[in-house]
Amino acid sequence: MGSKNRPAIEGGEAVREMPLNYAHQWIDEEDIRAVTEVLRSDFLTCGPKIQELEEELCRVTGAKFAVACANGTAALHIACQAAGLKAGEELVTTPMTFAASANCALYVGARPVFADIDESTWNLDPAEARKALTPRTKVILPVDFTGQAAELSAFRALADEAGACLIEDAAHSLGTLYEGKPVGSIADMTTFSFHAVKTVTGGEGGAVTTNDESLYRKLLLFRTHGITRDTSLLKRPGLEEESTRPSPDPWYYEQQELAMNYRMTELQAALILSQLKKLPLFKKRRAEIVARYDEAFSAYPEILLQRELPASDTARHLYLLRIDYSKLRIGRREFFDALLKEGVRGNVHYVPVYRHPYYEALGYAPGLCPKAEKLYAQIVTLPLYYGLTDGDVGDVIAAVTKLVEWYRS
Ligand SMILES: *Cc1c(COP(=O)(O)O)cnc(C)c1O
Repeated sequence: MGSKNRPAIEGGEAVREMPLNYAHQWIDEEDIRAVTEVLRSDFLTCGPKIQELEEELCRVTGAKFAVACANGTAALHIACQAAGLKAGEELVTTPMTFAASANCALYVGARPVFADIDESTWNLDPAEARKALTPRTKVILPVDFTGQAAELSAFRALADEAGACLIEDAAHSLGTLYEGKPVGSIADMTTFSFHAVKTVTGGEGGAVTTNDESLYRKLLLFRTHGITRDTSLLKRPGLEEESTRPSPDPWYYEQQELAMNYRMTELQAALILSQLKKLPLFKKRRAEIVARYDEAFSAYPEILLQRELPASDTARHLYLLRIDYSKLRIGRREFFDALLKEGVRGNVHYVPVYRHPYYEALGYAPGLCPKAEKLYAQIVTLPLYYGLTDGDVGDVIAAVTKLVEWYRS
């Protein structure tokens, strides 16, 4: 082979000079205007933009109620609090996720229980989750990994059978439909993240949606210190026990639970609102890029494509390149480094949660979920974002196929 095909890491010519990141936000002039308008307004927090965002999230997801909050981790925490999850109880989830999906159980003193993934969809396997149920199971928390909806019908049935609350971590899947219904309107509660790398961003930000009014009331309480000013919820009208008091004292509020300050700012809400207008465009462009990757890589027996269930009309957040390294002369680390030299800065989503030292110290042992561990060892996250040009996508494909061809054994 000529020097053109020689990998850059071995002295060949790189596919591109300017490296591509695996993710990048798309911020346009409208977004900037939306944020600067808030800066000139009367409210920086607790104002009209939060309410507008919550209404828009209800429209986009089809949910009856939405609660905006500080970030996706806060969303998971308040969802667990609203579900009443507590010490002595268990939350069943996937290890193939960001740590927050399991940490939320620990925040409330409960125990995360990890069940293995489906080998081909990479989502939590309902059959594995069923095996993990115990009389202590209080929450089942599937994650829409990479944006593909978890098998929500199966998890609904499982949650009903176990008498558990179904919380869906949809940090990856805003805009995804499951059996024709948007995620956010299906589980008991659905959590979202608007972190900078997510499909729709506010820099940071999160939300919980639900169709259940009593859960909604609890989410509102847990978002803000467990404090309410809602006169219909007050336990008494004020401190003095005056039976003649006609209405609660105007300044009076009550702390009824112990909680954090997980509020979102008006600036974030305005940015997310502006970004949400572009969600259909984001979804479409991401799908085009995924289709090009899938088509190019399907010709390579070394590359294993993610299986998409027909039930999920997916707004893809991540594209994972999965390689069977037994068919190459190099391993994942060498591939990752070689890819970077070609100008493609990948990532790996994720370290199986229980393999983190914090979890190992809690007693979770390696080997718990073999299919997740196998997936972890074979993946590199490729660039996937709205602003990738067709040329950029071609470069990523050229870099990957060049390396696979060069290193195949
Ligand atoms: C990003 C993410 C979170 C946490 O969201 P933050 O907004 O970063 O707190 C939770 N779960 C998954 C699957 C995520 O990707």
